Amino acid sequence: MNKSERALIKDIVNKENEVVELMGWVGARRDHGKIIFIDLRDRSGLAQLVFVPNNKEVYESANKLRNEWVIKVLGKIAKRPKGMENAELLTGLLEVQVETLDILNEAENLPIDVYSDGRDIGEDVRMKYRYLDLRRPRLNSNLKNRAKIINFFRDFLVKKDFVEIETPVISKSTPEGARDYLVPSRLQPGKFYALPQSPQQYKQLLMVAGLERYFQVAKCFRDEDSRGDRQPEFTQLDLEMSFVKREDVMSIIENMLVDMVKALYPEKKVQQIPFPRISYKEAVENYGSDRPDLRKKNSPAGEDPNELAFCWVIDFPFFEKTEDGNWTFTHNPFSAPIPEHIDDLMNKKNIGEILTTQYDVVLNGFEIGGGSIRNHKPEALEKVFEILGHEKEKIQANFGHMLEAFKYGAPPHGGIALGLDRIFAILFNEPNIREVMAFPKTGDARDLMMDAPSVVDKKQLDELGIKIIKEK
Ligand code: ASP
Repeated sequence: MNKSERALIKDIVNKENEVVELMGWVGARRDHGKIIFIDLRDRSGLAQLVFVPNNKEVYESANKLRNEWVIKVLGKIAKRPKGMENAELLTGLLEVQVETLDILNEAENLPIDVYSDGRDIGEDVRMKYRYLDLRRPRLNSNLKNRAKIINFFRDFLVKKDFVEIETPVISKSTPEGARDYLVPSRLQPGKFYALPQSPQQYKQLLMVAGLERYFQVAKCFRDEDSRGDRQPEFTQLDLEMSFVKREDVMSIIENMLVDMVKALYPEKKVQQIPFPRISYKEAVENYGSDRPDLRKKNSPAGEDPNELAFCWVIDFPFFEKTEDGNWTFTHNPFSAPIPEHIDDLMNKKNIGEILTTQYDVVLNGFEIGGGSIRNHKPEALEKVFEILGHEKEKIQANFGHMLEAFKYGAPPHGGIALGLDRIFAILFNEPNIREVMAFPKTGDARDLMMDAPSVVDKKQLDELGIKIIKEK
């Protein structure tokens, strides 16, 4: 088979007077007298195709073309006649004088408009036809920009000697405060895996394994009731480092974020570098929130999309009382207290006053990440679970593997995870994270395009030993 000779639309600017082959979708069509003009769209841009009546066969076939048909043309790149130029288009000085036309696929009338920004179209119908919704330039470029930022972070971390490691997605439940998605086991009837709320335990075990610097673009799963800007699955840039103090992790993240903004969003301004560090107490007292919005308030929020006010919030209380009077952790049970409070943890004294090494990174009033230095000594981790009221056997059953691993020379370590979807939404000036994800779920956790979750065959349930009890 011959290799396709396809050219990309963006490259026709260097091909005046050449005959090129282009492939893509039919966008707008305009008829001027007898001449048909069609906007052809491919992944790189738009070009104007011109069909004239004296090329009879091609002209007749062009007459049939409708929006979103997929075509291949062979045509000569020529200057547009004077007055017909379009300064807003990269290819706006040129046109393609079509010599041959192949229709590769027809399209029915689309159920949604894909040329507008889509903001006035109901979300349900956008989700059902997400593969069309993503054709709109706004969403198409959100996905491309998302990939660019991830590539930037990946490059940055690899240069700093981090190793990208995948951790399991069917795993064991980790106590990170949300409800787990459970996966029934066929081979171990009656037992369940859980989808990870984060790779927390695996990344710490990778530190025990001597990797020292790990990162992953990780999917995290939390079965929460829909609350504003949450999704059942979302993406974290997750990392962990050995032999570090809290400042080391914070400074890597800070440099990475600042470098990314400078490289990819030079029009945006980071308000203050280094990022201000605010204690939890100050944040709550002075801003009434543990994720303060430090943007200069002389312009109403949203009207100043180029202002990026990052800050760190530190010195959170480790424990807080639950309604039934027990202690629970505020952030992460694997965190270490600040060094001054280790003794209190070990003696289970002044529990309410113990501060954790947790650091949250906040951008324009949104928490975009958080992490901590961990307890790397088994005795210290055990104390946390005792304060949380876990019984000895339960500690062993749930965390025995961590406590055991820490006996074999666990290095001091700490890490962080950034909520990428939220960072993208802020940078792309989008109102919510669904606009920056390829296939998000609805508020009630459904995928309207795939129709998930869905009923499964009885045979599948039988294999898993599961019986559905219908509610009366
Ligand atoms: N696993 C934590 C989270 O998902 C982040 C961390 O402490 O590294 O919030």
